[in-house]
Amino acid sequence: MVTILAMIFTAGLILSAMVGMAFFISSIREKEKRASIFGGIQLLGMIFLVIGFLSLYSIGVFNSGVGVFILAFLVSFGLVVAILFCRRTSPNEKALKGAKGYISGEVTRFDERDHVFARNRSLPENSEQYAEYYQKHPELKNIDSKRRAKGGPIGRPGAIDSPGGDANVAAILACLSMPHFLSTQDKYSPEPHMALKEKLAQKKVEISPQEATIRLKGYAKALGASLVGITKINPLWIYSHRAEIFNNNWEDWGKEINLNHTYAIVCAEEMNTDMVGSAPHTPTCIESMLNYSKGAYITTQLAGNIANLGYSATANHFRHYDALMVPMAADAGLGEVGRLGYLITKKYGPRVRLSMVTTDLELIEDKPVDIGVEDFCRICKKCAVCCPSKSISHEDMTVTNGLLRWKLDAQSCFEYWGKVGTDCNVCMNVCPWSHADTLPHQIIKTLITRNKLSRKLFNLMDDIFYGKKPRPKPPERWAQFGTWE
Ligand code: SF4
Ligand code: SF4
Repeated sequence: MVTILAMIFTAGLILSAMVGMAFFISSIREKEKRASIFGGIQLLGMIFLVIGFLSLYSIGVFNSGVGVFILAFLVSFGLVVAILFCRRTSPNEKALKGAKGYISGEVTRFDERDHVFARNRSLPENSEQYAEYYQKHPELKNIDSKRRAKGGPIGRPGAIDSPGGDANVAAILACLSMPHFLSTQDKYSPEPHMALKEKLAQKKVEISPQEATIRLKGYAKALGASLVGITKINPLWIYSHRAEIFNNNWEDWGKEINLNHTYAIVCAEEMNTDMVGSAPHTPTCIESMLNYSKGAYITTQLAGNIANLGYSATANHFRHYDALMVPMAADAGLGEVGRLGYLITKKYGPRVRLSMVTTDLELIEDKPVDIGVEDFCRICKKCAVCCPSKSISHEDMTVTNGLLRWKLDAQSCFEYWGKVGTDCNVCMNVCPWSHADTLPHQIIKTLITRNKLSRKLFNLMDDIFYGKKPRPKPPERWAQFGTWE
C-alpha cells in the first residue's frame, strides 16, 4: 500500500518537474528573462521536493499508520486538484455560435468609408469624394487633416526608432508593396487560366464539397497559411460600401457592395514572437507587413486555383477587403474575439494576420470554437493596462451596433500609431495567448480552454512569470535598430 501510494505521488512530482523543466527551457529559448528566473526557481523547488520525498520514503518515514495517512492525503489532494483544474467546465454557448452568438440587437453593416484607414489612405484632399465625406462627417475633418499632415495613416514611418530604424522602414515598405503588386486591378477576382479555359470550354470542374475542402485547405497550408477555416458568409459582416481606392478606381468609392459568394476560406498567418516582442518598435511593424504580404501571396493563388476549377473567387488581403475579417475568422472556427478587438486563436493567440478568399464553390463549413477567451479576458485586462493610448476598455462588454463586445477606441489607437510610426502591437505582444506555441504553453492553453479555475490560476501566473507590464524585447539581429537598451 505504502509503495503504491509513494509511486503515485513520486510520478505526480516527476511529471510536474518535467513540465517545469520544459517551461524553464522554453523560457530561455524565448529570451523571457523573468519567466526563466521564476521557471528556474520553480524547477529547483520541484527537484528538492522529489529528492526530499524519496529520502523520507527511503528512511521509512511513511511506514507507520500516520505516515500512510499523510501519504494517502497527499495523493488524494493531488488528485482532487488535478480534477478541479482539468475537468471541462460549462461551455460558452455564445462563442460556439461564432460572431453571430454576440448579436444583441439590430446590426448595421459597416461602411468601409468610416474605416479610419480607408479614408486616410484613400481620400485625396481636393477630390469631390473628400468634400462629400467631410460634409457628412465634419467632426472628423480636423482629426484626419492633422493625421495627413503628419505623413499618412501611420504618420512618419518608423518615427519611434528614428533615425536608427531607417533600415527597418525600408523593409516595412518593401513588404507593403507586395499586395499592391499582386493586385493591380481594383481587386483580384481572377479569370480561369487561358489554357484551362480552352481545355474545359469554360465548364466547371465537377468536385464534391468534401474533396474541394480537403484540396483547398491543403493548398492554403502548402502556400504557408498557419491556420485555415471555412465558413458560410454572414451578410452582416460584408462592408456596405467600398472605400479603399488604390489604382484611381474612383468609381468604386462609396459603391454598394453586393457579394454573390456564399463561402469564405479564412487564413491566419502566424507572426514571429521575437518580432512582435519588440512592440511598439519597427520590427513588429515589419512582421505585420510581412504577414499581410504573405496573406496576399496565399489568397492570390488560392483564388486563382478556384478560378481554374471554373468558379468565381475573390482574394481578400491588405489590398482589398469585402468584409470584416475578425467576425469572418470567428465564424470559420479560427478563434474568438478578445478584449483587444483582434481574433484570438488557440495556437498563436492574437499573434496572427488574417486573409481570405470568398467563392461560390460549395465547401464544408468549420464550426466556431469556444476556447475560453471571453472568460479569460474578463479576468485578464493586460492589454487594457498596457495599451499606451488607453484605447482598450477595462470594463465589461457593451452592446455597440447591436453587437456585444469590448469597446475599442479605434481613433485614439490610430493616433498612437501616427505618433510612433508603426502599427504598435503592444496589446498583441502582452496578451498571454500570444506566447510561443511550445509544449508548456500548449498544456496551459488546453487547461484554459477546458476549465474556468485554470483561467483564474494561469492569469495570475502570467503576471508573476511575465510581469503585469511586460517590456519590449530585443528583436532578431537582422531587425535591430539603433542602440538596443
Ligand atoms: S495597437 Fe497599441 S494603441 Fe492600439 S489598442 Fe493595441 S496597444 Fe493600444
Ligand atoms: S491581454 Fe488579456 S484581456 Fe487582453 S485580449 Fe489578451 S487575454 Fe484578453
